Amino acid sequence: MSIIERVNHGLVSGIRVGRFNKGINTTFIVYTYKDIIIDTGPINQWKYVCAFINEYVNKHEINHLLLTHHHEDHSGNAQNIFSTYKIPVYSNSICQQMVKQEYNIPIIQKIIWGTAKPVITETITDNFESKQGAKLRMLETPGHTDDMSCFYDEQNGFLFTGDLYIASKVRYFHKEEDLTKQVQSLNKVLSLDFETAFCPHRGIMKNGKKDLTKKRDFIISFAEQVKALAKQGMSTKQICKQLLGREDLFTLLSSFTFTKKGLIEACLKLPT
Ligand SMILES: [Zn+2]
Repeated sequence: MSIIERVNHGLVSGIRVGRFNKGINTTFIVYTYKDIIIDTGPINQWKYVCAFINEYVNKHEINHLLLTHHHEDHSGNAQNIFSTYKIPVYSNSICQQMVKQEYNIPIIQKIIWGTAKPVITETITDNFESKQGAKLRMLETPGHTDDMSCFYDEQNGFLFTGDLYIASKVRYFHKEEDLTKQVQSLNKVLSLDFETAFCPHRGIMKNGKKDLTKKRDFIISFAEQVKALAKQGMSTKQICKQLLGREDLFTLLSSFTFTKKGLIEACLKLPT
């Protein structure tokens, strides 16, 4: 598949790429902000990502690549960008350990994104400043993965959210996710002053703070429903069936990496 969409918001531009156009979770936006690239898109889209960066570097300098976390849609082209443009790659230290070697992913992720090439990153500082003066504060925001960071531009009220958002309603849970940490991370970013959020899947969210608040509130109220049903004596399986329905093809194709049952279990563990 070729380019799906180009996006722009002030000094931020981006390209949405994806092998399949089957909804937002199978496509990815690579963002540029001044002389920084934020996340890389999946390796099977390198041709398009490379063309986009080539076009960008004709008009602007590019000096840094920042990674929000290790997932193959975010880090897949990091090694390619590093070797093609000779720019350093930055991430937090947990992500650094994850991306330095190849890691196994379920077959469905291999089909949608491809396997990321390992890459050596430099440790990002809490207050990152690019060569051209772009200032991004690194916020550790675990929950989706242990190694996830968001990048906050206080001056413009921008937040690059990695996979903290994706959608306001949650229906499946990845076996490596931690819902309690996700809520803490959402609360952490919601304490900041920002308006626009840049999600690589959903896109540019002009009311990003409202959208992230909606997600946090959805999780809390959904967990309350789950707990109320558990109090009535319903089993995890019964609650799951009532609120989310049976496990479906998506769960099967993900080799049970994503399950509805996992979400119910995570809600039961969420502190009140
Ligand atoms: Zn992710």
